[in-house]
Amino acid sequence: PEAITVQELANRMAARGGEVVKALFRMGVMATLTQTIDADTAELVVNEFGHRVKRVSESDVELGLEGAVDAEADLLPRPPVVTIMGHVDHGKTSLLDALRKTDVAAREAGGITQHIGAYQVTVEGGQKITFIDTPGHEAFTAMRARGASVTDMVVLVVAADDGVMPQTIEAIHHAKAAGVPLIVAVNKIDKPGVNLDRVRNELLQHEVVVESLGGDTQEIQVSATKAMNLEKLLEAIVLQAEVLDLRANPGRGAEGTVIESKLDKGRGAVATVLVQKGTLHQGDMVVVGAEWGRVRAMLDDKGRQLKEAGPSLPVEILGLSGVPAAGEPLTAVEDEGRAREISEFRQRKLRDKQAAAAGAARGTLADMMA
Ligand code: GDP
Ligand code: MG
Repeated sequence: PEAITVQELANRMAARGGEVVKALFRMGVMATLTQTIDADTAELVVNEFGHRVKRVSESDVELGLEGAVDAEADLLPRPPVVTIMGHVDHGKTSLLDALRKTDVAAREAGGITQHIGAYQVTVEGGQKITFIDTPGHEAFTAMRARGASVTDMVVLVVAADDGVMPQTIEAIHHAKAAGVPLIVAVNKIDKPGVNLDRVRNELLQHEVVVESLGGDTQEIQVSATKAMNLEKLLEAIVLQAEVLDLRANPGRGAEGTVIESKLDKGRGAVATVLVQKGTLHQGDMVVVGAEWGRVRAMLDDKGRQLKEAGPSLPVEILGLSGVPAAGEPLTAVEDEGRAREISEFRQRKLRDKQAAAAGAARGTLADMMA
């Protein structure tokens, strides 16, 4: 594995060398600035400083792209981002629809809801919750494959009359692999003769222990179609969010992740981006995966034009050079020169990768014909 000096690691994080030495000391590692540490230790330090470990760092071009470490005082509470998962026909779509209708802000805004792959609701107490609204499992898998983590928690929908099914188990595995907590929404409780104990025990077999069985996973009984107990589910999400103490610095350049994208006949490349750090402004220069552009317009899930979007807000943006894939990162940059430079570098890397893959495929074909 790669090694790195303490000073170099500090430089890459835009942190003080002394701070890194201190962090290492707290982890029981004595090292001076010029000493090297292994990649695993470096990764722990990076996490300690609140950074995501960088997936693409083969080039100086991308150095510093993630910006400096946020000071504790700059971190403000942000809404939770929730993904709904569960077996087919257990009621994911119905629940997403029902939850969207609970939005107290939408009533006042009187806007026309539009599907942009994610939406945000304001609950009775004023707290906000963002729901990812794209088909759960594929989106989750695609994003994780790209190293993107967008969701803070998973609401696992289990139909009371059907119990734990293959995709329920898959969802449990996804959540565990991503290290995000689960809330169980036992759905369809309006149906006659449902057996809640059976569902709980089936979950237990997959190491999801609900509170009534002495565990710490919240379980809420709901009916998506009859709109029963939706407030309770929202409360459970708010409670879980408080436990997670989710924070971000809104006062820096924006960083986010593409949730959904398309090529629109009239509007060109359109991408829904979840802002995760900082604030995205109309007019900002951004790189998104291998694409770039100036944010020409920003729309929320209520079809309203926005001038700015802070952490955890999903927005549809216009103005990109092309259509980025779901899971690609967005970063605001200083100017067009920087945007072009990073974009060109990434385009070139993509072409190299494609050429290598094509070469490998030709090789296989040649082998087969030999
Ligand atoms: P998905 O495949 O998980 O997205 O499930 P859907 O939301 O499409 O729901 C599948 C079926 O279950 C539909 O016919 C829904 O009307 C029905 N359904 C969803 N939630 C409930 C519920 O709470 N009660 C009842 N009785 N039916 C429900
Ligand atoms: Mg569905």
